[in-house]
Amino acid sequence: MAEPARDRAGAAKPARDEAGAAEPARERADRAGGAAGGEGRGDVGLGDEPERAYDATPFVPARAKLPGLRRAAAECRGCPLHGPASQTVFGAGDAKAPLVLIGEQPGDQEDRKGHPFVGPAGHVLNRALEEAGIDPERTYVTNAVKHFSFEYVPERGKRRIHKPPNPRELSACRPWLAAELALIDPEVLVALGASAGKALLGSSFRVTKQRGVLLPCPAIGDYRGRGDCLVATIHPSAVLRADDREAVFAGLVSDLRVAVRALDSQP
Ligand code: SF4
Repeated sequence: MAEPARDRAGAAKPARDEAGAAEPARERADRAGGAAGGEGRGDVGLGDEPERAYDATPFVPARAKLPGLRRAAAECRGCPLHGPASQTVFGAGDAKAPLVLIGEQPGDQEDRKGHPFVGPAGHVLNRALEEAGIDPERTYVTNAVKHFSFEYVPERGKRRIHKPPNPRELSACRPWLAAELALIDPEVLVALGASAGKALLGSSFRVTKQRGVLLPCPAIGDYRGRGDCLVATIHPSAVLRADDREAVFAGLVSDLRVAVRALDSQP
């Protein structure tokens, strides 16, 4: 990652983080009639089942720094995924990162530990970042969906098997991703896999066709990137599933180098 771009990013960050204390999520949800029933969403008959609305918005504090968002997300019931999962897995990393990496959803180990990209795919990602010249400590990693989506299949016993989030779940969780991006205001985004790409660019996104090139910045919530700022690539777990892991890993690194060049070219 180019040093000047990183320095510029730090210097140019607006003081949005200082916008004020977080309004507690529970109060906002109450106000919206979300988590605690009452008015608002209660008016449309959701009562004590805000997850039926498939919308995290009532749980997202209007003004919060990242720690406040993280605390509020722990209470989210914006879709049914919170039920079977162990905990919310919010994003983590450098709050001023010029580069934000967005995955699909937490995996089994992330669900148990409460941190993103700490399982086998996370190890692959860190190795790929370092090979591409990116310091993982100077990035922010998150997921399009903050709860582990899984299923049990008879032949796998008690193992929780990853199940891709469906479009409603991706849409429900989008307000959290939008809030993270608005606060961090990164220069470059990397979408790791098809679900992350769909969360940012819509359902027509195809990672096989759109990976490894600079794409226009997505408009998501209050985040408005500048020019072309998005690079899509495979999810690092694809390396672990591949027959030719070396070649697939090299492709991931190659795509990440496009993100490095995008950082380098920032004015
Ligand atoms: S997946 Fe997202 S929207 Fe659904 S409950 Fe979890 S944090 Fe809320």
